[in-house]
Amino acid sequence: MIIQPKTRGFICTTAHPEGCARQVRRQVEYVKSQPKVSGPRNVLVIGASTGYGLASRIVSSFAAGANTIGVYFDKAAEGSRTASAGWYNSAAFERAAEEAGVKSFSVVGDAFSDEIKEKTIELIRREFGKVDLVVYSVASPRRTHPKTGETFASVIKPIGPAYTNKTVNFHNGEVSSVTVEPATEDEIRQTVAVMGGEDWQMWIDALQQAEVLAEGATTVAYDYIGPEITHAVYREGTIGRAKDDLEATALRLREQLSATGGRAYVSVNKALVTQSSSAIPVVPLYISALYKVMKEKGIHEGCIEQMYRLFSERLFVQGETSVDDKGRIRIDDREMRADVQAEVAKIWEELSTENIDELSDIAGYRREFFQLFGFETDGVDYEADVDPNVDIPHLR
Ligand code: NAD
Repeated sequence: MIIQPKTRGFICTTAHPEGCARQVRRQVEYVKSQPKVSGPRNVLVIGASTGYGLASRIVSSFAAGANTIGVYFDKAAEGSRTASAGWYNSAAFERAAEEAGVKSFSVVGDAFSDEIKEKTIELIRREFGKVDLVVYSVASPRRTHPKTGETFASVIKPIGPAYTNKTVNFHNGEVSSVTVEPATEDEIRQTVAVMGGEDWQMWIDALQQAEVLAEGATTVAYDYIGPEITHAVYREGTIGRAKDDLEATALRLREQLSATGGRAYVSVNKALVTQSSSAIPVVPLYISALYKVMKEKGIHEGCIEQMYRLFSERLFVQGETSVDDKGRIRIDDREMRADVQAEVAKIWEELSTENIDELSDIAGYRREFFQLFGFETDGVDYEADVDPNVDIPHLR
């Protein structure tokens, strides 16, 4: 079939297998061109099919030479529907891993469930014995609690007064004002239940109890802080509460794992175009301004550059991993540089529909958004007939 992008707001309901494969290969090539990392041998990545999780998996295999298991929630093609981008990405990743002689397995299903945890543990036991790195990179709008059966929905809302700021429709470049009403107590509770640390803790507990977590293992989950502009809706809003909970979980896990020489961290990553971040009001406009400034300064990074730096300069170095005063790894250091933030703030004041192309990198944002789904990728013939049915070689 001929596959074209079909968008509904910030969602693209189609994905292109060849485009996704090329995007994965580009990331693999980047990592292969960098010095090797002496790090983990057997890695579990939860939330492994797109964004930061996929990049972590690629760095694990192609910089450290590690075997990986990826857990993710993606769908195969069916009838006239294409597979999701994460499906095509994972198929391409597994083919590349096979060529490189590293093992990779996929578990597709709900990471929040007991069933998927049990299935993954069985797979680790059978194929690796133990894992020595666990990356937690799930971003989800919903979670069903495995013990109580309650289904929680996360919201992105401020806490306290309503929040008004600029936002953009990145499809047509229209800048407008958006007001987000404050969250209720129950919405805060539900967002923490979805995006906080409880499920990460449950994974580590389950892996430890099953004795498939190696002594001295490392675990890391991903965090965000960002600029003043987005604080009310992000860091000081519902999702920020969930990130506070994630940070508290990291401290607890550090205590828990230190008995066997293990380590637990959150890594504060940079703002990037992913399926999750495009759903947050205000953030796509901030990212467009940030990309402009960071590209001009020659310090722009995508997921793969961020994750390579996380592994090679923070997690797997000789000596101590450097952290901030709250024990967090900061790989958002370039985003948060004072000169970068000052320029973004200046642009922000002036941004409007009329000057958005000139003042921000909205074109880059839009292109990266479509690239997440395998579109707007050089070398792909989008008029050609392509088979949407792609197998994941080691799906378990
Ligand atoms: P993403 O949407 O690209 O990836 C999310 C992953 O989670 C996918 O692999 C998806 O399949 C998986 N997933 C979702 N629900 C699942 C479920 N129920 N079971 C199994 N897998 C499931 O997201 P991302 O932007 O890479 O975010 C990953 C983490 O990084 C999040 O914690 C996010 O807050 C954090 N982060 C993101 C940014 C950013 O700008 N994108 C910045 C800093 C930190």
